[in-house]
Amino acid sequence: MITEAEQRRAQAAAVDLILAAGLILRDDERGRVEVADFGLGSLEAEGAQILTLVQTERLAVKLIALTPWQALPEHWHPRVGDDPGKEETVRHVAGDLFVYVDGPPTIARGRVPTGKEHLYTMRHELVLAPGDQRTFTPGDKHWFQAGERGAVAYSFSTTARDVLDQFTDPDVQRVTVVAGGDR
Ligand code: ZN
Repeated sequence: MITEAEQRRAQAAAVDLILAAGLILRDDERGRVEVADFGLGSLEAEGAQILTLVQTERLAVKLIALTPWQALPEHWHPRVGDDPGKEETVRHVAGDLFVYVDGPPTIARGRVPTGKEHLYTMRHELVLAPGDQRTFTPGDKHWFQAGERGAVAYSFSTTARDVLDQFTDPDVQRVTVVAGGDR
């Protein structure tokens, strides 16, 4: 759960990061940035700010803004019925972005959230520069973290069904609850 104040702060930080990256946001989009704490209640350590630009039955394009050292928890995109699962390409735009995938453990720049070592099992570190991109096929476990400058990246994918994503951390709840958010 996050508070309305946390949600507002994180939204503002995400808008600042996106604009500083040289991207354009319409006024109506600024208020639509989703703040996700993944139900873990420690937004600065584990979370993401996500703006959906396109979402159709077949395609999704999102902007992901991470505040400094914020980690988007380890997950993968499973098969759903006849759909083989979401295929996703993450393209780094600005800031520092570390991506973790299967492979020999090389983590050096990233910082696994304290006490969560067993929930971040992918330790092969890719340090992306702006313009670098990586494609994840369905079932590939991955997680991301921003460095000290935060990060902005695009996510291009087949249609996103975020609530069906699978996370290593069993405590993850994909739908963020905002305290007092129903008013
Ligand atoms: Zn993903």
